[in-house]
Amino acid sequence: MEQKIKAYDNVLELIGNTPIIKLNAITNSLQGNFYAKVEAFNPGHSTKDRIALHIIEQAERSGILKPGDTIIETTSGNTGFSIAMVSIVKGYDCVLAVSSKSSKDKIDMLRSMGAKVYVCPAHVSADDPRSYYQVARRMHEEIKGSVYINQYFNELNIDAHYNTTGPEIWKQTGGAITHLIACSGTGGTISGTARYLKEQAKKNGTKIKVIGVDAYGSVLKKYHETGEFDSKEIYPYRIEGLGKNLIPTATDFDVIDKFIKVTDEESAHTAREVSKTEGLFVGYTSGAVMQAVKQLSAEGEFDKNSNVIMIFPDHGSRYMSKIYSDEWMREQGFFDSKNIEEEQKIEY
Ligand code: PMP
Repeated sequence: MEQKIKAYDNVLELIGNTPIIKLNAITNSLQGNFYAKVEAFNPGHSTKDRIALHIIEQAERSGILKPGDTIIETTSGNTGFSIAMVSIVKGYDCVLAVSSKSSKDKIDMLRSMGAKVYVCPAHVSADDPRSYYQVARRMHEEIKGSVYINQYFNELNIDAHYNTTGPEIWKQTGGAITHLIACSGTGGTISGTARYLKEQAKKNGTKIKVIGVDAYGSVLKKYHETGEFDSKEIYPYRIEGLGKNLIPTATDFDVIDKFIKVTDEESAHTAREVSKTEGLFVGYTSGAVMQAVKQLSAEGEFDKNSNVIMIFPDHGSRYMSKIYSDEWMREQGFFDSKNIEEEQKIEY
């Protein structure tokens, strides 16, 4: 008798089609209905799986890549992990030029996923030949058949979400969505998803308000409001993946209705609160999105008919030595304003 084993051909088949989960306890006192699209359900535990797969497959379709060729990027974050994962399955070399600021854990994780990691000095300018930008650029020029993902300046980053995240949300909500709230880093997630959803809503005769979440210390909100790049907006902050000190071309500012800024401290506490109240172990920027929703709610943005979809970009396990470490939280002074002696006693 022929035996049929139900199995995926490889891990990449699990990318996308992430669930939407209703939030309950944390949104109890807010007007409206709140749902999270939980991107940690991707096999690489973040939304970046979608762009890694899309950009690499697009290069295959256009004949640039063949087995044994090389994929290059300049990140130690989620995108690096996703590119390494896709490269293994598809038989490419993965080269990541990262800053010496990257933690040892992250570099070890990428090497465990088969990536060649070049650690470049952090304290040199972007045009210094030793910087990770220049190292990546040089390798891309020198290695024939290589693809440079360049996520901040690659339109395919938007397309990945236009083709997948947007249609998934439209289908999952039956079009009954009033608000989309998402982080903006490269801007790919919010731009591609919003572009698709707004096109569908227009055909449907309905409206969706799109709100981008930005960090204090980033230029995006001011640029959206004034059209000007204001370097006075830039100062260091801790949340990784949110906001930027330049204007990425992977952001379509026209499909974003407004931006809201959140602090490092409130986002960290709110991420911990999501984990403790919903049982959803989320990353730092998911805390930022939830924090933005709290602020928007206090401003009267939502009413009882609002159906709010938030995108939660990644999983809490990537932040064990950061927001989920009491020691780290204490070092940042994030427990100070709570005015308590024992951090563990904080009741979210
Ligand atoms: N959250 C995290 C954890 C990220 O790594 C990123 C990507 N930089 C984002 C949010 C923002 O997503 P996007 O780059 O698509 O704007």
